Amino acid sequence: MEERFCLHCRGRVRGRSDKKFCSESCRNMHNNQLNSTANAIIRNVNIILRKNRRLLGMFLGDEERLVISRESMLLKGFNFEYFTKRFVDNDGYTYFFVYEYGYFALSAEEFVIVKDPALDEGELD
Ligand SMILES: [Zn+2]
Repeated sequence: MEERFCLHCRGRVRGRSDKKFCSESCRNMHNNQLNSTANAIIRNVNIILRKNRRLLGMFLGDEERLVISRESMLLKGFNFEYFTKRFVDNDGYTYFFVYEYGYFALSAEEFVIVKDPALDEGELD
Protein backbone atom coordinates (compact mmCIF):
# COMPACT_ATOMS: atom_id res chain seq x y z
CA MET A 1 0.00 0.00 0.00
CA GLU A 2 1.18 3.46 -0.91
CA GLU A 3 2.62 5.64 1.85
CA ARG A 4 0.66 8.79 2.50
CA PHE A 5 1.78 11.91 4.31
CA CYS A 6 -0.19 14.46 6.28
CA LEU A 7 -1.01 17.59 4.24
CA HIS A 8 -0.21 19.69 7.29
CA CYS A 9 2.83 18.20 9.05
CA ARG A 10 4.03 15.69 6.42
CA GLY A 11 3.87 12.96 9.05
CA ARG A 12 2.79 9.48 7.96
CA VAL A 13 -0.97 9.00 7.64
CA ARG A 14 -2.45 5.71 8.78
CA GLY A 15 -5.95 4.39 8.29
CA ARG A 16 -8.54 4.93 5.57
CA SER A 17 -7.10 5.42 2.09
CA ASP A 18 -8.90 8.76 1.69
CA LYS A 19 -7.44 10.20 4.91
CA LYS A 20 -5.31 13.26 4.25
CA PHE A 21 -4.20 14.20 7.75
CA CYS A 22 -2.44 12.32 10.54
CA SER A 23 -4.73 13.78 13.18
CA GLU A 24 -7.81 15.84 13.84
CA SER A 25 -5.66 18.74 15.00
CA CYS A 26 -3.62 18.74 11.77
CA ARG A 27 -6.84 18.74 9.77
CA ASN A 28 -8.15 21.71 11.78
CA MET A 29 -4.90 23.66 11.52
CA HIS A 30 -4.77 23.06 7.77
CA ASN A 31 -8.35 24.25 7.28
CA ASN A 32 -7.74 27.31 9.46
CA GLN A 33 -4.77 28.24 7.31
CA LEU A 34 -6.81 27.90 4.13
CA ASN A 35 -9.54 30.06 5.63
CA SER A 36 -7.16 32.75 6.78
CA THR A 37 -5.59 32.89 3.29
CA ALA A 38 -9.03 33.23 1.69
CA ASN A 39 -10.02 35.86 4.26
CA ALA A 40 -6.84 37.84 3.59
CA ILE A 41 -7.53 37.84 -0.16
CA ILE A 42 -11.11 38.98 0.38
CA ARG A 43 -10.02 41.62 2.88
CA ASN A 44 -7.41 43.06 0.52
CA VAL A 45 -9.81 43.23 -2.43
CA ASN A 46 -12.47 44.82 -0.22
CA ILE A 47 -10.01 47.49 0.89
CA ILE A 48 -9.30 48.40 -2.76
CA LEU A 49 -13.00 48.40 -3.71
CA ARG A 50 -13.93 50.55 -0.71
CA LYS A 51 -11.21 53.05 -1.58
CA ASN A 52 -12.28 53.14 -5.25
CA ARG A 53 -15.90 53.70 -4.20
CA ARG A 54 -14.95 56.45 -1.75
CA LEU A 55 -12.84 58.22 -4.41
CA LEU A 56 -15.59 58.08 -7.06
CA GLY A 57 -18.08 59.49 -4.55
CA MET A 58 -15.62 62.21 -3.56
CA PHE A 59 -14.88 63.17 -7.19
CA LEU A 60 -18.55 63.22 -8.14
CA GLY A 61 -19.74 65.13 -5.08
CA ASP A 62 -23.26 66.44 -5.69
CA GLU A 63 -22.92 66.42 -9.49
CA GLU A 64 -24.89 64.07 -11.69
CA ARG A 65 -21.89 63.45 -13.92
CA LEU A 66 -18.35 64.69 -13.92
CA VAL A 67 -15.54 64.68 -16.49
CA ILE A 68 -12.20 63.86 -14.92
CA SER A 69 -8.72 63.02 -16.18
CA ARG A 70 -7.21 59.58 -15.72
CA GLU A 71 -4.26 61.27 -14.07
CA SER A 72 -6.40 62.96 -11.39
CA MET A 73 -7.91 59.59 -10.53
CA LEU A 74 -4.54 57.83 -10.43
CA LEU A 75 -3.00 60.59 -8.31
CA LYS A 76 -5.60 59.97 -5.61
CA GLY A 77 -4.89 56.25 -5.73
CA PHE A 78 -7.79 54.99 -7.84
CA ASN A 79 -7.16 51.39 -8.94
CA PHE A 80 -8.62 50.75 -12.41
CA GLU A 81 -8.25 46.97 -12.10
CA TYR A 82 -10.99 46.60 -9.48
CA PHE A 83 -14.72 47.11 -10.02
CA THR A 84 -17.95 45.35 -9.16
CA LYS A 85 -19.96 45.54 -12.40
CA ARG A 86 -19.38 46.23 -16.07
CA PHE A 87 -21.92 46.97 -18.75
CA VAL A 88 -22.15 48.42 -22.24
CA ASP A 89 -24.88 50.99 -22.92
CA ASN A 90 -26.85 51.43 -26.17
CA ASP A 91 -24.26 53.90 -27.46
CA GLY A 92 -21.46 51.38 -26.98
CA TYR A 93 -19.87 52.99 -23.93
CA THR A 94 -18.48 50.47 -21.45
CA TYR A 95 -19.26 51.47 -17.88
CA PHE A 96 -17.25 50.19 -14.95
CA PHE A 97 -19.10 50.39 -11.67
CA VAL A 98 -17.77 50.27 -8.12
CA TYR A 99 -21.01 49.66 -6.27
CA GLU A 100 -23.28 52.64 -7.08
CA TYR A 101 -20.60 54.79 -8.75
CA GLY A 102 -19.49 54.17 -12.31
CA TYR A 103 -17.32 55.67 -15.01
CA PHE A 104 -16.72 55.32 -18.71
CA ALA A 105 -13.91 56.52 -20.95
CA LEU A 106 -14.50 59.64 -23.06
CA SER A 107 -11.02 59.30 -24.53
CA ALA A 108 -7.76 57.61 -23.59
CA GLU A 109 -7.20 60.21 -20.87
CA GLU A 110 -10.65 61.33 -19.79
CA PHE A 111 -13.48 59.64 -17.94
CA VAL A 112 -17.04 60.52 -17.05
CA ILE A 113 -18.12 59.58 -13.53
CA VAL A 114 -21.81 58.87 -12.90
CA LYS A 115 -24.00 57.45 -10.18
CA ASP A 116 -26.20 54.46 -10.92
CA PRO A 117 -29.77 55.68 -10.28
CA ALA A 118 -30.94 52.09 -9.74
CA LEU A 119 -28.53 51.72 -6.82
CA ASP A 120 -29.18 55.15 -5.37
CA GLU A 121 -30.03 55.38 -1.68
CA GLY A 122 -33.53 54.37 -0.81
CA GLU A 123 -34.29 52.42 -3.93
CA LEU A 124 -32.86 49.20 -2.56
CA ASP A 125 -35.00 49.25 0.54
ZN1 LIG B 1 -0.14 15.91 10.67
